[in-house]
Amino acid sequence: MSRFLRKAFETLDVYVPGEQPRDKKYIKLNTNESPFPPSREVLDAVAAEAASLQLYSDPECTALRQTAAEQFGLQPENIFCGNGSDEVLNFAFMAFCDESKGMAFPAISYGFYPVFGDLYGLDCTAVPLCGNFTIDPADYFGLNKNIVIANPNAPTGLLLGIEQIRAILDNNRSNLVIIDEAYIDFGGKSCLPLIAEYDNLLVVQTFSKSRSLAGARLGFGFAQPEIIADLNRVKYSTNPYNINRETLAAGEAALRSQSYYDANCRTIMDNRDYTTEALRALGFEVLPSKANFIFARHSAIGGNELYLSLKEKGILVRHFSRPEISDFVRITIGTLAQMQTLVDAVRLILSQGGN
Ligand SMILES: *Cc1c(COP(=O)(O)O)cnc(C)c1O
Repeated sequence: MSRFLRKAFETLDVYVPGEQPRDKKYIKLNTNESPFPPSREVLDAVAAEAASLQLYSDPECTALRQTAAEQFGLQPENIFCGNGSDEVLNFAFMAFCDESKGMAFPAISYGFYPVFGDLYGLDCTAVPLCGNFTIDPADYFGLNKNIVIANPNAPTGLLLGIEQIRAILDNNRSNLVIIDEAYIDFGGKSCLPLIAEYDNLLVVQTFSKSRSLAGARLGFGFAQPEIIADLNRVKYSTNPYNINRETLAAGEAALRSQSYYDANCRTIMDNRDYTTEALRALGFEVLPSKANFIFARHSAIGGNELYLSLKEKGILVRHFSRPEISDFVRITIGTLAQMQTLVDAVRLILSQGGN
């Protein structure tokens, strides 16, 4: 820390990304990336775009927003493009929260929400989950805060239905409700259709999970035009060229390869079913996930111990040390072969008494 850092930043709890180790080759089931490469069309589009890198990218993301509008049945004015959905969330915290209006979110959810809250010095409310790790919409009524909820939630994988989201929106007419749909393509139902009805709804999606573009950094915000204009106000005050040329080309091509990504999502859902069943047969409790990961625990081995034993065997999963969930591991769903290797390793670890 230098002596120049502003006071308020001295105590920031920064976001800690999942490990990206370089010491050896792991089966990487720890950061919810897709096990499948981008589509052929995406690879070709990115290669072609490289020849124009001397030119700035389109700050309005015109072609990508037009393509997305057609695909999602919206207008381009309903769409904001971010450098990853993390940037959309960051801009939303910046644009819509202040001393008088903080943010509420589930106490166990995406780790970036409290980090943004901290960064902007907001009064945040971490709303406890129910005993079975579900979210009760009624807990989000009358808080007088903006709200952000990941649906499905992370790291639980549990999904809220549209009517539950609607209840939260109806009871928060004076607050912005952000629904972070990072994992919606793995069996959930998007609440995008609700943006026509609710001027207090911002839906956030990402290309990082279902569309195999985590390394390209691209996310969407969907809302009524006034909300999108506010996000642009922040964007044009920080980084007008927030999406680079190659990523714009990749995103547009990805939207045009929808059937390829749909098939990948179906494979991942099948592999999720396989892994859930196999781990339950080994005595695990596995929460019913609608995401590309599962959250599981076993009474005979702690979460950290299982994480370490799997790492030793070349398989990376994610462990969270906070007490309410420290007996769980979060396992990203990969290819069937990867999941079979994982299940075999887990079986061996359990048979050796957890070591
Ligand atoms: C992965 C993830 C994001 C961030 O996605 P990027 O688009 O890669 O920034 C946002 N929200 C949740 C809940 C996530 O799991």
